[in-house]
Amino acid sequence: MREIGHFIGGRAVAGTSGNFGEVFNPATGEVSARVAMASAAELDQAVAAARAAWPAWAAMPPLRRARVMFRFKELLERDRKKLAAAITAEHGKTLADAEGEVQRGLEVVEFACGIPHLLKGEYTEAVGTGIEAWSVRQPLGVVAGITPFNFPVMVPLWMLPVALACGNCFILKPSEKDPSPSLMLGELLKEAGLPDGVFNVVQGGRTAVEAILEHPGIEAISFVGSTPIAQTVYRGGTAHNKRVQALGGAKNHLVVMPDADMDDAVDALMGAAYGSAGERCMAVSVAVAVGNAGDRLIQKLEPRVRALKVGPGTDPEAEMGPLVTREHRDKVAGYVDQGVKEGAKLVVDGRGLSLQGYENGFFIGGSLFDDVKPGMRIYNEEIFGPVLSVVRAPDLSGAVKLVNDHQFGNGVAIFTADGGAARDFASGIKVGMVGVNVPIPVPMAFHSFGGWKQSLFGDHHIHGPEGVRFYTRYKAITQRWPTGARRGPEFTMPTLGR
Ligand code: NAD
Repeated sequence: MREIGHFIGGRAVAGTSGNFGEVFNPATGEVSARVAMASAAELDQAVAAARAAWPAWAAMPPLRRARVMFRFKELLERDRKKLAAAITAEHGKTLADAEGEVQRGLEVVEFACGIPHLLKGEYTEAVGTGIEAWSVRQPLGVVAGITPFNFPVMVPLWMLPVALACGNCFILKPSEKDPSPSLMLGELLKEAGLPDGVFNVVQGGRTAVEAILEHPGIEAISFVGSTPIAQTVYRGGTAHNKRVQALGGAKNHLVVMPDADMDDAVDALMGAAYGSAGERCMAVSVAVAVGNAGDRLIQKLEPRVRALKVGPGTDPEAEMGPLVTREHRDKVAGYVDQGVKEGAKLVVDGRGLSLQGYENGFFIGGSLFDDVKPGMRIYNEEIFGPVLSVVRAPDLSGAVKLVNDHQFGNGVAIFTADGGAARDFASGIKVGMVGVNVPIPVPMAFHSFGGWKQSLFGDHHIHGPEGVRFYTRYKAITQRWPTGARRGPEFTMPTLGR
């Protein structure tokens, strides 16, 4: 049985806790490897390696740190297909989708290549006579990233390029469900010239996360995952005086106005609801049909959902792969049962799908509900599977109220031909990322990613300019070089400007 260990101090290290988790091939249902589950002592070894590496890395000029990022970017391009294959093998998503994930992560590396510019402070000459002032942003020290299963390459790359380029050392605790790509990132960073100890991977689950929250040698934590764990990490990390950004779950709505191009809206919904089998934090899981849009929408959606091509991620024809684990597949099927019990109308039932040759894979077909209402569990909770709920709203303000009243506020979109309606929607909606005729409005690497309400705990969104702020401390320096006569002690409030 292949064993997946840690990456500490620039080399692969076997687990020593004696605890292991199973890693599956979701398409076949077979166990493909076992992953080490770190103890607090193993986490401590990684922190020690990172702390030892930090002074030299922080002191390296940003231009030279950027050169490591340039090389890292080239290596990610070289190994794009290998990384995608590693994602598909443990996550299950299609290879084309996995390659897209690598690309979106790579773009954050491109952003981090500009770090000398991004770290520039502000300077003021003559804040007082013979006195100047400026600001700098300095790295925090050792920071940690805790990441979810659904983007084993992209989400770590939302964090680590910016953190490293800013001059921090990084400890990644990836999801135990698809741990292999994280080790490939470690090897590529080493090949790019990153000094040993600057980047480390500690595999594991709850024990490793609790050790990160409590470790006095870790200054900040970036977390991406489900809302309950995001809240736990935010509370635990801040209670230990750490800076924390914790991104949680989502229930993203796509509002279809009666004047929208219905074919365009249906294409958008198909990709956004069923792509990656709905296992995306920016997946659209609710379509809000406004006015008379509902019947037209259902009529066009139904045959498309029935025709979805489900297959192993390695099949180039597949539009959707399996779910990540058997438990998760059963949980998603349970939500479909629940929706039927709650009185929603099940238009397409994806339960019970069996694929020839892959009978033990964690597959489920796409499901479509109509007449879903607030208060139903399938509306209130994140399902994280290929289940789309259609909710009817009488007008735009009814649709806005639905979105604003929901506990989550990650992404939202409106499809309309009316610019005025779109502008009012974008301005008034209580959600962090908004799309106008764009179904999955994931900000580019040079903007920042994050939600509102129960979708993010902390003050900073992730990557882009917000990432640079999160991974640095601000310092303001005021300087005078005395010339001429001494001024003697001053006992009143200094007022430089006078
Ligand atoms: P998860 O919360 O189960 O796991 C996330 C991380 O927390 C993993 O590294 C896991 O090992 C760790 N963890 C799990 N249980 C823990 C516990 N009890 N104590 C401490 N740590 C624990 O999430 P997941 O199932 O891996 O990922 C799917 C979730 O992530 C969805 O809710 C999805 O919306 C969310 N997500 C959000 C974003 C975003 O940007 N907001 C992006 C991707 C995924």
